[in-house]
This record gives sequence, structure tokens and C-alpha cells, in this order.
Amino acid sequence: MKFWVNNNGKEESVQAADKIRRELIAHDFVLDQKAPSLVISVGGDGTLLSTFHAYIDHLDTVKFVALHTGHLGFYSDWTDDEIDELVARIIEQGDDIPATSYPLIDVEIDAKDGSVIKGTAINEVIVRRLSALTLKTQVDIDNEYFESFRGDGLCFATPTGSTAYSKSIGGALIHPKVNVFQMVEIASINNRVYRTISSPIVIPADQIVHLYPQDAEDYVVNFDGKVVKLKDTECIKAQLSPQRAQFAQYRHRHFWTRVETAFLGKND
Ligand code: NAP
Repeated sequence: MKFWVNNNGKEESVQAADKIRRELIAHDFVLDQKAPSLVISVGGDGTLLSTFHAYIDHLDTVKFVALHTGHLGFYSDWTDDEIDELVARIIEQGDDIPATSYPLIDVEIDAKDGSVIKGTAINEVIVRRLSALTLKTQVDIDNEYFESFRGDGLCFATPTGSTAYSKSIGGALIHPKVNVFQMVEIASINNRVYRTISSPIVIPADQIVHLYPQDAEDYVVNFDGKVVKLKDTECIKAQLSPQRAQFAQYRHRHFWTRVETAFLGKND
């Protein structure tokens, strides 16, 4: 089987990645950066995000597995004291990789000059002003007017991204089995002119959110932490992607246990 290992620069990650490469190659697995079936991310959830984006054009053929060289993560469900077990499972399963898949968000940005920017995120897409000024935008949901937003910005989060930035701004935690995305406000202004719902909204897979920004000169869209600057935006369209990210599931980790471990700690 063809595989690739992507690691961050931390010494522990470099060593863990080297060990995985050596052991898999010794069992006739082939390193192939261009067309791997399995991509192993070594570092943290942040490393998995960059690994995911490096293979964004290969989502049909690639399965990801992530090892954390720190604490357990949300995507990274193996830790570096479990390398031997992970490698043994990879060898045992061979081409027959057990997998689960997670929802993604697609965003399309139409500029006034007719140009189009498209992007996909596994955590979230954030729309905000580049300057300290507020984002003013009409929000339509499922092709109907919904609200007139004014505030710092809007965040569109996937279920697996619901434990990341979205949680910090009051979004709900959504189990990755639920095929939806949520729109979460960032510091909205509510007065007679601008009135927003002020709660996170969970949007089904077949509905699209359209933003029609006013004075649309200096907006930025942030895809999983990667910033794209916009000019003269006509419309921003956010929806659940028809594609999903496939993760190798060499063992099952309960989502709510991960949430409890990450945010609450063990109850004695
Ligand atoms: P970073 O600023 O270096 O790290 C952000 C933190 O978010 C790291 O601790 C990372 O975990 C964690 N994280 C990433 N995805 C997560 C997920 N799905 N659930 C729970 N925690 C998650 O940035 P980065 O490493 O490039 O990651 C970019 C992501 O950071 C963005 O997509 C955004 O969601 C998140 N972020 C959050 C805040 C906030 O909560 N206020 C602010 C900025 C960015 P690891 O330590 O395992 O890498």
C-alpha cells in the first residue's frame, strides 16, 4: 500500500514520523507523496489541518489518520506512546482500511468583476472585515431573506470544527455523525437597523447561506486558519460539501469522551 507521513517540526513529531516510515517500509509499504492511499499526520490537530489541505484535491482516494505528539486531539486520536499499536493495525489491515467520514464546508466567493474563489474547510470558514470596521451583510438562508447582520463576522463550522474556534464564540458542539453545519455570530450589533437572531443556527445539508456584504472592499475569508483577502465582493455562498473527509478508523474513539477529556477533565 502507498502511504505518506506529514509531520510538524517538533522533535517528538520528527522522531515519531521517522519511526512510522521505517516500520511501514520494512513491511513493504511504499512511500508515495503524490498518490497515497493513507496519509499519516504526526503533530497535533493543527498539523492535521495542514495535512488535509495538502490533499484537498485527493479526498476521494485518501484516508487520513493522525497521531498527536502531545495530548489526545479531536482528529488526532493516537498519541506517540501508541506508535507500535498504530503501526501494527496499519500493517494488519493493509489495503482494507476501516474508515469513517466527516462533513466539510464549501464556500464560493463571487466578486463584482465576475471572478470566483472557491474553498473547502474541515473546521470552519470565517468571514470578517480586514480593518477594525464591522462586517455589514444581508444574510439569506435557503434563498430567503433571513437577517441584516452587523458585527465582527460570521463563522460557518463543520461538526468536527465545532470543538475549535466555533466553541470559543459560543457555538454548539455537534456530533460528527450529524450531517449539518452551523452559522455562529462573532460580536453582532443589535439595534433598530441591524437585528440578528443572536443564536448559533444549525443548517441542513441541502440549504445554502448567501451573504451579500455592503461596502464590500476589504473582507477576509479564513479557511481553517488560512486567510484569503477579498476585493469588491458580490456574494459569499456557504454550504455543506458533497465531498467528505475520510479518516482511517483503526479503533473507535467515542466523540463525547474526547469532548469530556479535552474540556472537562476526568471526573473523580
Ligand atoms: P493555532 O492557533 O496554532 O492552534 C489552535 C488550537 O486549536 C490548537 O490547540 C489546535 O489543537 C486546536 N484545534 C484545531 N482543530 C481543532 C478541533 N477540530 N477541535 C478542537 N481543537 C482544535 O492554529 P492551527 O493549529 O493552525 O489551527 C487552526 C484552527 O485553530 C482553526 O481552524 C480554528 O478552529 C482554531 N483556532 C481557535 C481559536 C479559538 O478557539 N479562539 C483561535 C484561533 C484558531 P492542536 O494543539 O492539537 O494543534
